[in-house]
Amino acid sequence: MAEGGGEDGGSPVCMIVLGMAGSGKTTFTQRVTAHLHEKGSAPYIINLDPAVHEIPFPANIDIRDTVNYKEVMKQYGLGPNGGIVTALNLFATRFDQVVKFIEKRQKNSRFVLIDTPGQIEVFTWSASGAIITEALASSFPSVVVYVMDTSRSVNPVTFMSNMLYACSIMYKTKLPFIVVMNKTDIIDHSFAVEWMQDFETFQDALNQETSYVSNLTRSMSLVLDEFYNTLRVVGVSAVTGAGMEEFFVKVSEAAEEYEKEYRPEYERLRRIAEEEKRREQQQQLERLHTDMGSVALHPGPHTEEDVAGPSDLILTRGNVQEEEEEPEDSDTDDIDHSVAEARLEEPAFQNFLQQAKSKYREKMDK
Ligand code: GDP
Ligand code: MG
Repeated sequence: MAEGGGEDGGSPVCMIVLGMAGSGKTTFTQRVTAHLHEKGSAPYIINLDPAVHEIPFPANIDIRDTVNYKEVMKQYGLGPNGGIVTALNLFATRFDQVVKFIEKRQKNSRFVLIDTPGQIEVFTWSASGAIITEALASSFPSVVVYVMDTSRSVNPVTFMSNMLYACSIMYKTKLPFIVVMNKTDIIDHSFAVEWMQDFETFQDALNQETSYVSNLTRSMSLVLDEFYNTLRVVGVSAVTGAGMEEFFVKVSEAAEEYEKEYRPEYERLRRIAEEEKRREQQQQLERLHTDMGSVALHPGPHTEEDVAGPSDLILTRGNVQEEEEEPEDSDTDDIDHSVAEARLEEPAFQNFLQQAKSKYREKMDK
């Protein structure tokens, strides 16, 4: 465990735990937490599942403390899925605070664990998932941990669709990727590793399937070969704890990969974004100058004294409230939920929720 970690000065490594519902994300997060505690290196844990009843680990930040998804459902007439997505969207608006909390804890935690909603697409195919992933990845070494249920992937076609999903997430997040083949206490993951390494074995398994799907799968497996080559795979059992040491070896490798390949890319993207912002501000300023110029040139029915120049406008804008300083060392890592709640009232959010609501209804009407 050479990489990452506050104690030796580096940034903590963020592990974003993703996977299909029931694959074992939450149980895995619990297992990793227990393992790290044993090693005397308690992780910083974030629960992003607003709909979970109980979590078996002590979360430092819990989305349920900030957004009540049932209340969101009620207030905006959304179904469970709409409620979960909206709760995550609301939470994403405060994610800058989460990043600050993690930064404060850099000295204490070598690892940050992020457990995500049961339904994978809530995170991987939503704007908020992208916002959260990018916020983490642009501040800390971050890796995606894709948990899969090995016992439910023994059929080659099912295995293939699971891998395709993993592949799409890897390309979408553009982050170092670890496939955790979970539940090895039920079935050893070696069959899957063999399928990935030896094309012929996979073809043999497929020969027992005769549907058109198997033909498609055959072609797809050729395509996936490239993906498999770059993939880190580890078999674990979240229940027994088997495979934990090997998992952390993979995490170290992935964190190294982040430093080498992803950090420069993220820094490049950040520079581009900053440059873009600067240019936009400049353009706005120029536009303002032009507008003000035309006001001065065409005073219309007003006398010249009536026309407010740019400096007058600034002076008459009233008291600009200073941004409140955050208390230096707040111990509780609750997101300021009064803010999140207040945001529910903001026109922009009303708009946003209104849109979400009608989109959701449209879907339901279909
Ligand atoms: P999540 O929806 O991805 O968070 O999945 P959970 O962590 O809630 O787990 C779903 C189910 O799989 C639960 O019943 C867990 O007990 C079970 N489970 C998770 N990991 C393992 C494992 O390693 N072995 C076995 N046998 N069951 C597991
Ligand atoms: Mg879960």
